[in-house]
Amino acid sequence: MARIAILLRDRCHPKECQWECQAYCPPVRMGQECIVEGTDGRPVISETLCIGCGICVHKCPFDAIKILNTPEADEREIVHRYGYNGFRLYRLPLPPTKGITGILGPNGTGKSTALRVLAGVERPNLGRYDKPPNWEEVLDRYRGTAMHAHFEKIARGELRAVFKPQYVDRLVEEGGTAEEFLARSAVEPGPALSSVGLEGKAERPIAELSGGELQLLAIARTIGTDADLYLVDEPSSYLDIVHRLQVARLLRALGERKSVVVVEHDLALLDYLADQAHLVYGEEAAFGVISHPIAMRSAINTYLNGYLKDENVRFRTEPVRFVAHPPKLPTRTNVLVAFDPLEKKFDRFHLSVGAGELAKGETVGIVGPNATGKTTFVRMLAGAEVPTAGAPPKGVTVSYKPQYLKATNAASLRERLEALRGDPTFDGSLFERDLVPGLHLDNLLDVALPDLSGGELQRAAVALALARPATLYLLDEPSAYLDADERIAMAKLIRRQVERQAVSALVVDHDVYFLDLACDALMVFRSEGKDGSAGVGSGPFAMRAGMNHLLKDVQVTFRRDAETLRPRINREGSVLDREQRERGEFYYEAAA
Ligand code: ADP
Ligand code: ADP
Ligand code: MG
Repeated sequence: MARIAILLRDRCHPKECQWECQAYCPPVRMGQECIVEGTDGRPVISETLCIGCGICVHKCPFDAIKILNTPEADEREIVHRYGYNGFRLYRLPLPPTKGITGILGPNGTGKSTALRVLAGVERPNLGRYDKPPNWEEVLDRYRGTAMHAHFEKIARGELRAVFKPQYVDRLVEEGGTAEEFLARSAVEPGPALSSVGLEGKAERPIAELSGGELQLLAIARTIGTDADLYLVDEPSSYLDIVHRLQVARLLRALGERKSVVVVEHDLALLDYLADQAHLVYGEEAAFGVISHPIAMRSAINTYLNGYLKDENVRFRTEPVRFVAHPPKLPTRTNVLVAFDPLEKKFDRFHLSVGAGELAKGETVGIVGPNATGKTTFVRMLAGAEVPTAGAPPKGVTVSYKPQYLKATNAASLRERLEALRGDPTFDGSLFERDLVPGLHLDNLLDVALPDLSGGELQRAAVALALARPATLYLLDEPSAYLDADERIAMAKLIRRQVERQAVSALVVDHDVYFLDLACDALMVFRSEGKDGSAGVGSGPFAMRAGMNHLLKDVQVTFRRDAETLRPRINREGSVLDREQRERGEFYYEAAA
């Protein structure tokens, strides 16, 4: 068992505190140099002198310190360590010569680091951050293991690896048009663009592409490059359901010929894509351990069950279970919100949404391709956009979580709560009692909002929205930036809050597992007219009808896993797939 002391550097502001970590540290008070000032002006915490009392963790005004034990990790298996009080990665996934390997695990546990090491972008330091080993020493360490041949190729410069980075928005810095972006990497633009449906965007400067288009372009470049190993970090971000399924097919086709490693949080997608997966466990920003590979179906079931038997590691207290049958139709006597037909005309886009009703205690998903007006519809209900025709329902109080989040000032969540004390439009006790534990915000309360990561900010924003007493909750893409665990926790929490308070919620999202866990019904948005000049929204439909509506367009069918009852995408052309398509049952194998 090793003790780990982590300093979260982005959160540590050593000029704005009283060095409480040092002042209250018992060993320091006994005259030991357990916490000293480092060359960069930040504290350095000695892992050998630390007694694990946790006082510095609680005293730090910015929640910037973590002290923990790693009973699971063997120090001899350390692959890479970022500095003394920095993150450390144990073990690596081994890419097979052909096929797709998935990596599934929480945010901040070293998945991207592992991909960079496999790609040869980052030379593993074996924990020796202060005196990094050369390739000779790295090869020595891996002699006799399966990783040896891989590192040997990297050391000799013989490995051709391509990397689809996690943060595609940063690709904009490369400049130029979509065509030039591909040509620079020696990828023939024509076929690459049409493989992802971007043929019309060849001459568009990449700075003007949407997040989803940028993702598709990055994927097209990766797949279009001739290499031995393909490393794909979070391909589904910014993509709608339709594009996620298209990308899954493209990557599967690549995996027939090549070795591919994919990091992905959308479980339906990962399940369909990969042949096997490594689970990652550990503690965010502190350490991560990569498990042995597990065949895909068991990998996700193991993940949902929360217990890794081989390694005797439990990473969740309760197994996650799905419900096989479509939720029963809410009785229409229970209508809480009824909205009239709504229309919005922009210069180049026309949205029309039919009338609909939401029942008490009902969470309704909004699904459909990008740019079909989902956000515009939600904004009209929130009063942020004035409809061209129709009016939002009267007498309905709404609470709205927008799609794009930005921390507008440097306050922390605790300071926000303080400022909202006594405000009748905010339920502080609900926030503290249910939302802080439910969304794991305990360690984030004292962090300035701009210092939060994307996933942390998302959880904070959803919690703030759910703590506003309202009849109708509007949540636009709440699963964005969350890892699979956080998505499951959030889906269940939204559903529970809405049921308990007998209110309604509309949730725009693209993750099928998230929707399946959270929703009772679906609204479906589709594109009409040429060049996507019109969007049409309809529903709410019962889950079965809504899913059939959506999936018919993409011709993808789902079955249920026998053990966990989670939805699984059928292989194209399999017996079930053909039967279900014939019967028009795209989401539930049998009509309920
Ligand atoms: P994941 O992909 O699983 O979210 P990453 O591999 O990106 O995780 O990062 C794991 C942790 O390593 C992060 O929480 C971060 O604190 C740390 N880290 C990542 N890159 C660096 C770096 N270049 N320097 C120092 N620390 C880093
Ligand atoms: P979704 O949420 O389904 O991705 P949006 O509602 O964000 O779709 O956008 C639908 C269409 O409306 C897009 O083509 C977008 O460019 C257009 N649009 C959205 N807001 C405006 C606006 N304020 N002015 C002009 N066009 C807009
Ligand atoms: Mg990552």
